Amino acid sequence: MCRSGRLVLYVGPMFSGKSAHLIAEAHAAPCSVESVLVLKPAFDTRSGAEIASRNGTSLAARSVAAWPEDAGQYKAVVLDEVQFMVQPHYEGNIVAELLEARDQGTTVIVGGLDTDYRKQAFPIVEALAKHADDVRALTARCHVCGRAARWTAKMHDTGQLLETGDSELYQALCDAHWHLP
Ligand SMILES: [Zn+2]
Repeated sequence: MCRSGRLVLYVGPMFSGKSAHLIAEAHAAPCSVESVLVLKPAFDTRSGAEIASRNGTSLAARSVAAWPEDAGQYKAVVLDEVQFMVQPHYEGNIVAELLEARDQGTTVIVGGLDTDYRKQAFPIVEALAKHADDVRALTARCHVCGRAARWTAKMHDTGQLLETGDSELYQALCDAHWHLP
């Protein structure tokens, strides 16, 4: 993963294994782990200073609300939950910052939800997908029928568009079973 200048984007609904893929990418890096900068949005406080997958793997991560000044020292950047890196939770333009890092030779591996619980695209993830060298779309299993699920659904309406939660609040659902809260 330390080949220079690539942007790889993992998208898919919640419960589709995005974090597990990011963690595996970081561990598979032929360069040392110290040369991989792992970031998560400060907005997402669910698992503290780490990226945690539902299969039990985890990776120490720096919680950020702005692009780190020392990012240029790293050969690779791994970043999860990019959809939360928007104002007022993030100062800066994460799309431009990630593309600049890629153009300077950094390997950039990003994970994020492509759509919200209303099936509406997250604009920054859509913009990243246009510029990514590789977009890997993952699916989850439908909570109702077990078939491939590409949508995140919210179980009850909280009035919040950006909201962290787990299976108490969200489910992955297929085309047939998806519904608004
Ligand atoms: Zn289903």
